[in-house]
Order: sequence, then C-alpha cells, then structure tokens
Amino acid sequence: MSDVKSIGVIGAGQMGRGIAQVAAQSDLDVYLGDVDLKTAVQGKEVIAKGLQKLVAKGKINDAAAEALLSKINPVDGIPSMRDLPFVVEAATEREDLKAKIFKTMDENINPDAIFASNTSSISITRIAAATNRAERVIGMHFMNPVPVMKLVEVIRGVATADDVYETTINLAQHMNKSTVTSKDYAGFIVNRILMPMINEAAFA
Ligand code: NAD
Repeated sequence: MSDVKSIGVIGAGQMGRGIAQVAAQSDLDVYLGDVDLKTAVQGKEVIAKGLQKLVAKGKINDAAAEALLSKINPVDGIPSMRDLPFVVEAATEREDLKAKIFKTMDENINPDAIFASNTSSISITRIAAATNRAERVIGMHFMNPVPVMKLVEVIRGVATADDVYETTINLAQHMNKSTVTSKDYAGFIVNRILMPMINEAAFA
C-alpha cells in the first residue's frame, strides 16, 4: 500500500506520458508538466488519443478512459507542484538539463517531497548533487512503453534514505509494476546487459 496519493511528472514526452497514464490508472492524481503549459496540454491530448484506440479495440470503455483522463492535470511549471509528495522527472536525457530541473524542483517543491528521475544512464548521485536534499532523490527507471512493460528499476544514490527507497518501491508496486533494485552504476541493470548484447549483435 502506497502513502503517495498524488504525483508530479516533469516531461510530457514518450516516457512522461506513459508514467502519467499508469499513475492515473492507479488512482493517483497526476500533475503533468513540460517546458510550458501548452506542451503539457498536448501531452495529455496524446494520452487521450492512445486511450481512444484502446476504447476502439474494446480493451477499456469510454467511462474508464474519461475517469483516467480526469486524474491528469497539465500544469504550467515546477512551482505548481510545490505541495506534491512525490515528483518523477522524465525530461530529455541531458545531464545539464536534469541538473537545472532538479535545482528548480529543490527551490520550489516542499522539502519533504521525494524526487525521482527516470534517467536511463545518468548517475542518480550526480543528479542528487544539484539539490540540497540528496537523501530524498532516487532513480525510478520505467521501461518503454510504460503502460505495457512491467519492470521498474529502482536506483539508490549514495545518500538516498531508507524511507525514500521504501516509498518508491511501494509506489511502483501500487502502479502494478515489478521492481528490481540496481546499484548506481552506468546503465543500471537493464541497459548494462542490453547495450553489450546489441553491440555483439552488430559485430555478429
Ligand atoms: P522525449 O523526448 O519523448 O520527452 C522528453 C520531454 O521532456 C519532452 O516533452 C520535452 O519537451 C521535455 N522537456 C525538455 N526540457 C524540459 C524542461 N526544462 N522542463 C520540463 N520538460 C522538459 O524523451 P523520453 O523518451 O520520454 O525520455 C525521457 C526520459 O526517460 C529520459 O531521461 C530517458 O533517458 C528516459 N527513458 C527513456 C526511455 C525510452 O525508451 N524512450 C526508456 C526509459 C527511460
């Protein structure tokens, strides 16, 4: 059982939309942000189109799609997430950009909030160093496409607190995901195995 009832998602791209959709499906209130409100609204529209396809295939009904969408609130930026207990960052994979986003999160969001990054390859310890709350920063690496893929890698930085780790595991399970805990090592577990395999395939 997760104590987290609402989450922020920063980045309304491929991964952020998937995380927002699965969180809303898990009855969480979702606040979805991107570079501006317009882009966040467009992200929600893409989620709506995806749900309409599921309705057309008979996988969900209209009421379920509407209920899910009503839980997703596009916002105009990080300051609108100030009271949330848990925020997942799923913005473009660039360390300088993530450092800037985490600094802004730290300056604007309540000090008890947990910050998770969906990064595939950047050190959680280094991302956490952009904040003054390294113990409340963790990696929460969803797989693509998020609504389909069951696995979430949970990555502790050197300072991540035990309660932050436990809350993140509980939240992932609440979102109907299986978890694996990885060291903060390049590629974590999945990409550390996958990338050399792809390389070998190219050599072969
Ligand atoms: P994407 O390009 O689809 O989306 C990135 C989003 O971030 C865009 O909507 C962009 O406008 C937004 N963004 C850029 N700067 C921002 C800012 N300053 N504030 C808020 N939003 C900003 O990328 P993606 O594939 O969704 O990847 C997002 C993260 O998820 C990356 O860290 C990536 O490594 C990770 N990831 C990707 C995959 C995948 O297969 N695509 C899988 C696992 C993890």
